[in-house]
Amino acid sequence: MSISILAAAGLMVTSVQGADPAASYDIRVAVDSDEASQTRVDIVVSFIGDDDGETTVTLPSSWGGAEELWNVIHDLRVTQGSAQFLAGESAAHRILTHAPGARIELSYQVIQDWAGVPMATQGNNYRPTIQPEYVHLIGNTYFLTAGDVDGEQPVSVTISTPEGWTLASDLEHGAINFNTLLHSVFVAGDFRVEERTIDDATIRVALRGDWEFEDSAFADQTQDVLRATHSYWQSPGEEYLVTVIPLQADAGWSSLGGTNLGDAFAFFSDPLMDPDRALRTLTHEHAHTWNPGRLGGLDEGLNEPAGYWFSEGFTDFITQRVGVSTGLWSVESSVQQWNELFSLYASSPVVSAPNSAILNGFWTDGNLQRLPYQRGMMFAALIEHQIRRSGDGSIDMDDILHAMLEIGVAEGTPNAPERFQSEVLRQTGLDLSNDIQRYIMDGETIYLEADTFSSCGPLETFDSPVFDYGMTGHRDEDGVFVLDTVDPNGPAAAAGFEPGMRLLDRIGGRYGDASVDSTFRLEHNGQIRELSYRPTNGHFVRMQRIAFDLGTVDLEACGDQLSGR
Ligand SMILES: [Zn+2]
Repeated sequence: MSISILAAAGLMVTSVQGADPAASYDIRVAVDSDEASQTRVDIVVSFIGDDDGETTVTLPSSWGGAEELWNVIHDLRVTQGSAQFLAGESAAHRILTHAPGARIELSYQVIQDWAGVPMATQGNNYRPTIQPEYVHLIGNTYFLTAGDVDGEQPVSVTISTPEGWTLASDLEHGAINFNTLLHSVFVAGDFRVEERTIDDATIRVALRGDWEFEDSAFADQTQDVLRATHSYWQSPGEEYLVTVIPLQADAGWSSLGGTNLGDAFAFFSDPLMDPDRALRTLTHEHAHTWNPGRLGGLDEGLNEPAGYWFSEGFTDFITQRVGVSTGLWSVESSVQQWNELFSLYASSPVVSAPNSAILNGFWTDGNLQRLPYQRGMMFAALIEHQIRRSGDGSIDMDDILHAMLEIGVAEGTPNAPERFQSEVLRQTGLDLSNDIQRYIMDGETIYLEADTFSSCGPLETFDSPVFDYGMTGHRDEDGVFVLDTVDPNGPAAAAGFEPGMRLLDRIGGRYGDASVDSTFRLEHNGQIRELSYRPTNGHFVRMQRIAFDLGTVDLEACGDQLSGR
């Protein structure tokens, strides 16, 4: 199958030769000069109706936390053919009647169904953004589909944009089918595009707005990250697009996030975006291009979070490897990130929750949302150590993942976690069923063996005091923290804290740290005082730490171990 892409000024056409597209989408972005320079997005979709003379049209509904997406579709109508919409439609579905197998053309306008500009307070707003200077559109939130859709069926797309607008979309990567259509990002307007290559593949960064960093520096680092992930997976470069839109942020608000679209990543950030943090996010997200999809995927639907320990936790494990091996962050920083994980995991209030609790809790409870990342990364380290030992160091986690990738995914193959388990068994003879049951399903706390990171230092196990603030409060209009309650049996009361006190400054300690005293300068009844206490309730939690000594460690050996070399 050969693909031709024509990218003329403001016009992009992707056509597939050798296969009839199941549908064609014509996206037209225009600036309506009559209506105070309003930007309009209109879509014309053409397809063949079902043989029985009735075709269901499915509107976007919910995606990535955005709900009732059918509200973005306006003025849906038949523009060609004699099809008619039946009465009695639901919000997400319309029924068309037509001559059997007739060609049908529909048109609709996509609107921004929320007011204003993207704000940091909204976080990642995946709904269509249609502004006077630009548009930002994610496939799942604005395309409708007709009939039963097979994700692999080819689709053709044309896009036209106003004179002078820059356009960037992963739809330009060619060979579009329904899956890639819905899993796409399209930006146009006052964007600036930087191009780099990995092998022979072009990668692009499209950004708009003002940032603290240079476009070219960000593009260079993006190239480093993408190249490193390709190298980890031993896969040649592929076309990739990173889009970045700034969120307007009021003082005190910051937000950085985005969504992975397979061959693209859409960033949303406040203007003070820390590029290091963004690139760390990108490293994790780019690894998702392989894990879990190309390793076998996860169960779909409500059961999906049951596999997040593998898709998220193992991805975090891989992210560490890629980050250290490419120098994206230092060996020291990686050790610090591992130690933070040990601390956060062990002190998680849900550390022993069974995997089944994550199914529902993932979307409603922040602790349960973080758990599969933490537990999965711990489990990856635990299993990696077993794998290495089984082959006297000749096999490691990477060999297992690479083999899974090489075998490929076919119809009906088991999901990625199950394939991982069988590949470990095949290569090492290790049967992981018992460990998966204990540590993943039942939620037994994972402790790693002392020599897991031997080149970086011994893994110490120790009892750490549990952090307990012992008081609650709120920030007043001046931003000063005012105490509302002080637990009479807690550590703050014993130190003399009382409701109504205004905490002006923190002089010592930090929130969440029970290993040192917290000291505050505060105002009470018009007097300025200082109070100090140890924010702990007398309980301890057992956790681990890599005893890393910069004076004696062989940094290169430690780096090799952390990056899996
Ligand atoms: Zn992820």
